[in-house]
Amino acid sequence: MTATSPDYLEGGCACGKIRYRLAMPPMFVNCCHCRDCQRQTGSAFVINALTEMDRIEVLRGTPEAVSVPTDSGRPHDIYRCPDCRIALWGDYGRRPGLRFLRVGTLDDPAALTPDAHIFTRSKLPWVRLPDHARAFEIYYDMEKEWPPDSLKRREAILGPGK
Ligand SMILES: [Zn+2]
Ligand SMILES: [Zn+2]
Repeated sequence: MTATSPDYLEGGCACGKIRYRLAMPPMFVNCCHCRDCQRQTGSAFVINALTEMDRIEVLRGTPEAVSVPTDSGRPHDIYRCPDCRIALWGDYGRRPGLRFLRVGTLDDPAALTPDAHIFTRSKLPWVRLPDHARAFEIYYDMEKEWPPDSLKRREAILGPGK
């Protein structure tokens, strides 16, 4: 998140059937190095922008929810393009109203930078985090790490203490 971010960002899948607009800014951006995310992306980590579901305006197409097993056992639905199957955003734990937008699907993925790196216990050894990056072996205390405004937004959709 930066002060120069535009009011919204657009993105989409590979074939162009799904297009979306993200109202800015997300509540928080996690770069997750857990094994689930490595498997799901076939890569070293995933970058998730946490946002209210209604901040993602689908401009074209209808993403399809696909459930995936997770190491924690918590449900995780990944919303994909029905044609090219690109993963656009996730719903971890089936919490209505909260989405984890995959930053790599933005037209300009450089527009959002991670606020925190999580699950670094399984970070691939050749990945070097930026100096002063906020990094956590597993997860963090949200009350400490999230801006107050983002905590309020989260509570507005999930209720207190969730
Ligand atoms: Zn597609
Ligand atoms: Zn993960």
